[in-house]
Amino acid sequence: MSAFDSLPKAELADDGGRPLEAQLLVTADPAPAIAQAVAEGYAVMPAGGLTSAIGAFAYAQDSISDFKGVVAVRPKQSPEPELAEPGTPLEKLKTNQIMIDPATATVSAGAGLTFSQVNAVLGHVVGPAARVLVDLTSIGSAMVGGVVASGSMGPLRLRPSASLAGVALAAGGAEAELLTGDDIHRAEGMQGWTGLVTAARLRYFETPLNEFGLVLPVQSGDTDALGDFLAYLHPWTKLDVPESGSSLIGAKDEATIVNGVELVTRSSLEQFILHAGGDSLKAKAQNLLQSCDYAGADWLACITGWSDHAVDDVLVMLLDEETETIGGVMIDFGVGFSSGSEMDAFRAIREGAPDLARTKARVTPPGQMKPWTTSSDINLVCLERDTTPLANALSSYQTYREAVAALGLEFEGRLKTEMTVYGHLNPHGLDPHHRVILTGAPEFKDDLAAAAKQVGKLKMALLRDLVRVANGFGAVINGGEKGAPSLVELMRALGGEAGLPSNLQSDLARARASIKNAPRAFSFRAPAELF
Ligand SMILES: Cc1cc2nc3c(=O)[nH]c(=O)nc-3n(C[C@H](O)[C@H](O)[C@H](O)COP(=O)(O)OP(=O)(O)OC[C@H]3O[C@@H](n4cnc5c(N)ncnc54)[C@H](O)[C@@H]3O)c2cc1C
Repeated sequence: MSAFDSLPKAELADDGGRPLEAQLLVTADPAPAIAQAVAEGYAVMPAGGLTSAIGAFAYAQDSISDFKGVVAVRPKQSPEPELAEPGTPLEKLKTNQIMIDPATATVSAGAGLTFSQVNAVLGHVVGPAARVLVDLTSIGSAMVGGVVASGSMGPLRLRPSASLAGVALAAGGAEAELLTGDDIHRAEGMQGWTGLVTAARLRYFETPLNEFGLVLPVQSGDTDALGDFLAYLHPWTKLDVPESGSSLIGAKDEATIVNGVELVTRSSLEQFILHAGGDSLKAKAQNLLQSCDYAGADWLACITGWSDHAVDDVLVMLLDEETETIGGVMIDFGVGFSSGSEMDAFRAIREGAPDLARTKARVTPPGQMKPWTTSSDINLVCLERDTTPLANALSSYQTYREAVAALGLEFEGRLKTEMTVYGHLNPHGLDPHHRVILTGAPEFKDDLAAAAKQVGKLKMALLRDLVRVANGFGAVINGGEKGAPSLVELMRALGGEAGLPSNLQSDLARARASIKNAPRAFSFRAPAELF
């Protein structure tokens, strides 16, 4: 009997609640275990922090008919990363190990660590301003391997490859293979369909010392004003990523870098207050709700960044002296947060609100069907400081929201239709995720199916509209936060490969080549469009 037969069933589920249909192996040294599994005829499914919400672990039963079964391989984690011997090759790094090389200003991190752990070690060893440029909002729960495999982006809107110096990929050989340069794309954004990332090497940088958060109430329907606001922030959000470690260079002011703007809607803030634990957090959230009410606003724009200055000085620095606004947005009801416990509270509120929406999307309410849900994910980049593409893109989202609201009215009494908006506003990557959740009692099964189909069509229309905006107004769509799956979704919306913008056609060709060269034991989960 094979050792893999006796592995326990993976009693794990992704962020969308979908269980991993596999047996589970947790190991600090995945390459030899994978080689053995592949040799014995098993398919392999890498698993990370399980924070991905796209049914990332789904596969068709007939795609595994040639295999003995599916083994989910999860890199071993550690509460405290272990320091590896200096000079350890990346391919030999254990998944819970870390190694810093000040000479090249790089950090090598095992796939089982989180980037919060990586930054904490950098803080101790190099200094408090040393950071990697991975800032996705799940930085404390997603794993290094999962982030690279998803090609994820945070408020900075930079993919890991912007500062990746190497990736170790285990795909059935006795040792992991070292990928550098363009080959990194064989792993980044490929969702584990080409192998398991065992470790990654990233350049680290000296950033301005303090983190800050600045919350400004804004009106979602005023898309021109929001476009002006984002275009105004363009110079602070534009980064030059230096070739080797040193100070990160912001286009406007090295001492202050705006990472981006995260959205929290008034309604999700209300929900957060209902469920928040801890009086002080609740009070802070209530304070923000009051700001919304005083400003007559329905969204909160949570500006995040790093600065050598105090948050009050950052506010003054961002202020347009003539209008006494930040790009047209009034600061009278703004609330500032600075490093330490203040920032923890800021993050808890900023992340807590969308997190509740994700929970709602996966929990079946008593007497109801399992919720149906879909979320938008497309990254539109504005190369110049220009309001027009930003305002037009935001207007496309506004049209989508209105159409979904109209659909909600059509099915009222039979289905509950909810939409949560969260995600990222940044001139270098506008991606305000719009999550729609449909729920209803079992007798309205047909209605749920019909409404889901209509939302699907509306979402496809939104994607087409965003591509039209990008093509018409000099912006660029560079895919979405989910790497290859975002690319495939766009391709479906645009009626095939020929409809994709040329940069995405190249990305698609590259993804296809990677899948073609990957062992079937990994690529069995990839969509048909990539073969
Ligand atoms: C609160 C919250 C906030 C989030 N914020 C963001 C955000 O700001 N930006 C963003 O882009 N996403 C965000 N996400 C989504 C998610 O965190 C990211 O996609 C993340 O990169 C997934 O990492 P993971 O380790 O959880 O991977 P998992 O969810 O475990 O896996 C995701 C995919 O990667 C594959 N995989 C996992 N580990 C490996 C490995 N070692 N080698 C090869 N393949 C692997 C899996 O097979 C799967 O296909 C958020 C999610 C949550 C819950």
